[in-house]
Amino acid sequence: MLSSEKDRAHHKSIPPVICYPNDTLPAVDVAAYQNMKTRCGDKLADILVPPREALCFEVPKGGFFRITSQEGPQVGDLNLWHKNDLSERFYSGKTRALHGTHISVGERMWSSFPNLRPMATIIGDTLQWYGIDEHGGSVHDVIGTRCDPYTHNLLSGGHYHHCCHSNLTRALSHHTGLSLKEAEPLVHDVLNVFMCTGFTKDTGQYFMKASPVRPGDYLEFYAEIDLLGALSACPGGDCSSEHSSDVAACYPLQVEVFGPSEDIGATDWSEPAKNEYDGTHGMDYL
Ligand SMILES: [Zn+2]
Repeated sequence: MLSSEKDRAHHKSIPPVICYPNDTLPAVDVAAYQNMKTRCGDKLADILVPPREALCFEVPKGGFFRITSQEGPQVGDLNLWHKNDLSERFYSGKTRALHGTHISVGERMWSSFPNLRPMATIIGDTLQWYGIDEHGGSVHDVIGTRCDPYTHNLLSGGHYHHCCHSNLTRALSHHTGLSLKEAEPLVHDVLNVFMCTGFTKDTGQYFMKASPVRPGDYLEFYAEIDLLGALSACPGGDCSSEHSSDVAACYPLQVEVFGPSEDIGATDWSEPAKNEYDGTHGMDYL
């Protein structure tokens, strides 16, 4: 028998339950990470990602990287892989399930199955003041995917080649020597650095609004494992109106990489182990 009006009203009024209570995750000692940063090693790289392009960078485990706005408001699309095993990559969906729609200081970028371990921990964010606005918007989301030429073609036709998906694919191909065909499937859903997004309350649709980022704002990370990163300066610029075109004003993004502190062996930090699930998926009776 179908539910009654009373049942339906009751179900709509039930308070939500958090799917993944995260208080059993390993605690993140932000102060300890920030303290290590004060004793970090030499600057290993300092690159400027041109507008509507992407570049790769490598960060040794225990090292740091910082993405900084330059010249004008600009959104960045970030991919991360294990440097020595590109099948271990950032898992946007599970990061969202664990931390929420947007991430900031003390939260982590988690890797894909079967690893599911922290790849990077956010230790600095000058846009943390933004919080969640009246529209439900916030910055640094893990709810979007990345702008791509396929969706653009589906919705508008045409062949635009500087979407973040294509930028990241070209950058990975150039950096690794993989062919474009080999590199493309390794590109994955991103962390939308500096992007201001949310879901509309009436239709539940993904929305964007002008990023509050200004030159000098940054997002800083600690590398929990050896990382290969790729950052695209999105063709949407500050993503206030449109992407997948050359219309928006776009600016470069800086990526600085710093080595681990010399006394890292004396700290409490160690590389996170891969997930301990036994991997048999119930087939151990065979
Ligand atoms: Zn983009």
